[in-house]
Amino acid sequence: MPEQPHILATLKEYFGYDSFRPLQQEIIDSIFAGNDNLVIMPTGGGKSICYQLPALLLPGITLVISPLIALMKDQVDGLQANGIKAAFVNSSQTENEQHSIYQNLIDKQIKLLYVAPESLSFLDTILSQIEVSLIAVDEAHCISAWGHDFRPAYTQLGYLKNKFPNTPLIALTATADKATRQDICDQLNISNATQHLASFDRKNLSLEVRPGNKRIEQILNFLDNKPNDSGIIYCLSRKATETLAEKLRNQGYNAEAYHAGVVHEKRAKVQEDFINDSIQIVCATIAFGMGIDKSNVRWVIHYNLPKNIEGYYQEIGRAGRDGLPSSTLLFHSYADVVQLQKFADMSGNKEVQLAKLDRMKQYAESLSCRRKILLSYFGELIEKDCGNCDVCLDPPTFIDGTIIAQKALSTVTRIKEQEPIGTVIDVLRGAQNAAVYDKGYQQLRTYGIGNDISWRDWQQYIIQLINQGYLEIAFHLNNKLRLTERSKKVLFNNEKVSLSHLKEFEKIKATHVEQSKKTKSNTLFDNLRELRLKLAKEAGIPAYQIFNDATLKE
Ligand code: ADP
Ligand code: MG
Repeated sequence: MPEQPHILATLKEYFGYDSFRPLQQEIIDSIFAGNDNLVIMPTGGGKSICYQLPALLLPGITLVISPLIALMKDQVDGLQANGIKAAFVNSSQTENEQHSIYQNLIDKQIKLLYVAPESLSFLDTILSQIEVSLIAVDEAHCISAWGHDFRPAYTQLGYLKNKFPNTPLIALTATADKATRQDICDQLNISNATQHLASFDRKNLSLEVRPGNKRIEQILNFLDNKPNDSGIIYCLSRKATETLAEKLRNQGYNAEAYHAGVVHEKRAKVQEDFINDSIQIVCATIAFGMGIDKSNVRWVIHYNLPKNIEGYYQEIGRAGRDGLPSSTLLFHSYADVVQLQKFADMSGNKEVQLAKLDRMKQYAESLSCRRKILLSYFGELIEKDCGNCDVCLDPPTFIDGTIIAQKALSTVTRIKEQEPIGTVIDVLRGAQNAAVYDKGYQQLRTYGIGNDISWRDWQQYIIQLINQGYLEIAFHLNNKLRLTERSKKVLFNNEKVSLSHLKEFEKIKATHVEQSKKTKSNTLFDNLRELRLKLAKEAGIPAYQIFNDATLKE
């Protein structure tokens, strides 16, 4: 193993740095000890040096598998500029170019060889003729269908450990949950790899989630105390980026749209102007941000719910690279969830996408420290609540939501589980519209029993009920709201339901307090059975017909 001073001198000589960042030294030592390694470190953490530096000190070549053909040339140019003998092989080269690289390999003129996974099989013969001292698999999450960026060509990489059983292999990635991590090790045949997990905690980023209603208004308020700060607003659709940018310009903000449909020159200009602070706000699809190095992005807003936590983390991670306090704001709307469900349904690996979307939803709907949830996704546990997310700063208070739940559940029962959230709320609030009248819902006993609560609050409460398992959405049946096993406990066994108080509407709370003062009992109907009997008596029919639902038949 090279001596410590020698390693540090190499770091200085070839890379210009005086010291290592967290984990780099430990990883490099582990490579020299001959271990296989799995490195999980956020983007910008400094993964490259972990294999580039050992490459310089090991006798043979270091083989680097990298998926980004477009960036390979830049990476290699950068290394060569530092006096490092590096080369790449990929499909963009002519046969002649490739042969001259093979010759250089045999002549030991190359220390680092970058290869696209697709090109690896062509190298099989040449690799048998040279000494390979280290294998690095960069962006290793691409191997896993569990990851968010699956590349089929990566799945062949298990070959490497078979061909070079005694050569240390290092797999590196910025984003991998536990399942992905296990999958990476399994597929690369490095089950005994030493794992190095860097902290994903970006303490300088505040985290906030708000309901996605009146978003433009909320954004303008948000910007009020940030008149000149640079920021990015991520939207799901190209159209939304355009509309939003225009609305912001109309309010005097220097905002531009950025998405894959914008012509190349214009895109490059927006990016450059943003980096140079001559554009303050970019409204963008997720196409924006890859490889952008701007340290003073002060805030990131998600206009729509991202489809998974990996993406969300990467996007908010573009704020505050300089380490100064920066804000992030996520708008959460039910409509987005439905939209993303549909995308997931159409995608190749539906189950994985849906599971990931579910985690994203749990984050957005959390009533406890958000940072804990975010970090736990990356396998990192923090002891204390973070104190820098909306939940920590203003913890929810809970109300007795039993009446609210009973009203919602009995309405769902009466409309025979045939309607989506919107219509359920319409019935609860006694709306006079076609959705209600066409089906005669105005005749139902529960029609209008929830008119003391605003439409929007009903929406929030019902989402909470769904999250607690009292209701479910049948996504495959036009998003109809349906009862669950747990619903019945509320309907028949008097189960108490606790709901988080909707802070923005203090008035509502006051009404509830008023109500519960008026009614002697805490619940609207001490026993729902009693209500049914009463209704049945009034109508002169058997009780179960009031609900007209076989599942409720005794
Ligand atoms: P990653 O691959 O983890 O996203 P990179 O390897 O591209 O990160 O490194 C990100 C940036 O950090 C680069 O500009 C790199 O030169 C710099 N860097 C890496 N290690 C150090 C170090 N020990 N000291 C200072 N800068 C470093
Ligand atoms: Mg990297």
